[in-house]
Amino acid sequence: MNKFTEDTITAIATPSGVGAISVIRVSGPLSFEIADKIFKGKIRLTDSSTHTIHYGQIFDENDVLVDDVLISVFRNPHSYTGEDSVEISTHCNPLISKKIIDLLLKNGTRLAEPGEFTKRAYLNDKLDLVQAEAVADVISSRTDASLRGARNQLNGLLSKKVDELRNSLINASSFVELELDFAEEDVEFINLGDLMNRVRTIENEIDLLLKSYNFGKVIKEGVNVALVGKPNVGKSSLLNYILKESRAIVSHIPGTTRDIIREDVSIDGIMFRLYDTAGIRISEDIIEKEGVLRSRKAVKDADLVILINDVDQGKSEDLLNEISSLINSNRILSILNKIDLGMTGLDDYDVKISALTGEGIESLFRKMKEKALGTSNYTEKSAVVSNSRHFDCLRKAKESLGKVKNSIENKMSGEFIAVDLRKAIDDLGEIVGIVTSEDILNNIFTKFCIGK
Ligand code: GDP
Repeated sequence: MNKFTEDTITAIATPSGVGAISVIRVSGPLSFEIADKIFKGKIRLTDSSTHTIHYGQIFDENDVLVDDVLISVFRNPHSYTGEDSVEISTHCNPLISKKIIDLLLKNGTRLAEPGEFTKRAYLNDKLDLVQAEAVADVISSRTDASLRGARNQLNGLLSKKVDELRNSLINASSFVELELDFAEEDVEFINLGDLMNRVRTIENEIDLLLKSYNFGKVIKEGVNVALVGKPNVGKSSLLNYILKESRAIVSHIPGTTRDIIREDVSIDGIMFRLYDTAGIRISEDIIEKEGVLRSRKAVKDADLVILINDVDQGKSEDLLNEISSLINSNRILSILNKIDLGMTGLDDYDVKISALTGEGIESLFRKMKEKALGTSNYTEKSAVVSNSRHFDCLRKAKESLGKVKNSIENKMSGEFIAVDLRKAIDDLGEIVGIVTSEDILNNIFTKFCIGK
């Protein structure tokens, strides 16, 4: 059942520090045996059934009590890793956890590497690779929307889609290969027109997934927003209004916002990282020059620039031009602030607001979301790509399918078709981890925390 006859590993699974309870994980073939060496309860863990919890004490080598604990028993394959494992709940004090880990190490476990529990879960077919990666995303999600996205991935929404496409290709490829086997007999197992249609359908599905990447990335990683505008247009006031707290200095003196202030806000579950810039403009002042450089960088790195104009000074065409030279103009929102003072002029703006009264801020949020997500209409139930590794594999699969289409069109020999079909099948297999390499696995699991 489990592919491992490996080390028994251990690690603290809860955050370090002081708290109510801390959990230590042990997983591997000797889990029960080793835990029994340091634990005294009513029955031996080795003799207990899976999914049972046991109260008892842990003693050190001198028979000194370390702590009262509860130990949960999971027998393979019914555990997170798919192996025999125990979870020891202790009073949460780093001294206690350390002592217990030391005892476990002395009795035959070794310290788990980052992500090793999840890696074992993957190797024992408890999770596919997409789901394993989703475990890390679930832990690191900071907004409701990103958490929901990660949960969907962990539930297998994307895996299911990828498996479906891959199986359809495997089916097509088996006909092509069968035909190659019977080449001399001139029988047709699959009509080239049908094959072409199937490849096109799968290609379209892959395109949909590729297109979902922007949405998935925005949901997962959030959006960098640079607030740009001439001095006094109300950048800090807007930021403060949004944050409802006063970290940025609101003042009448132009150019006091010399440093770039960053604040993270969640708007409808999407993380917007707001950068208040010092304004892009020529200045003799050395400190300001530094600020200007930083502003330009903030603009270049931004996914979205909010160019703030105000009723007093009107539209700053020069700034708009400068920003347009730095980033694509569809990533700029040009807004008018201070409309509480009355509106003048006929200039066109994306949104009109007052950072003082809050008027128009809701429309600003709506526009920010629109700009960030584009016109995509994915729902909670859509399979969405949010991981660059998955994106790259899908792109490779699409490329291989392009070659398949080419071979069909040019009436090339079935061997060419078969090779590229197989390649596309492998590209998709790489996403869920059917095809993989030690490098890919290391790359994924070393980013995990220890104990997960
Ligand atoms: P910044 O230099 O762009 O960061 O501008 P500030 O946020 O420091 O604002 C400059 C001045 O304009 C301050 O006196 C603010 O109180 C004022 N201000 C900002 N937004 C508004 C607004 O919507 N309406 C009015 N009437 N005044 C505003």
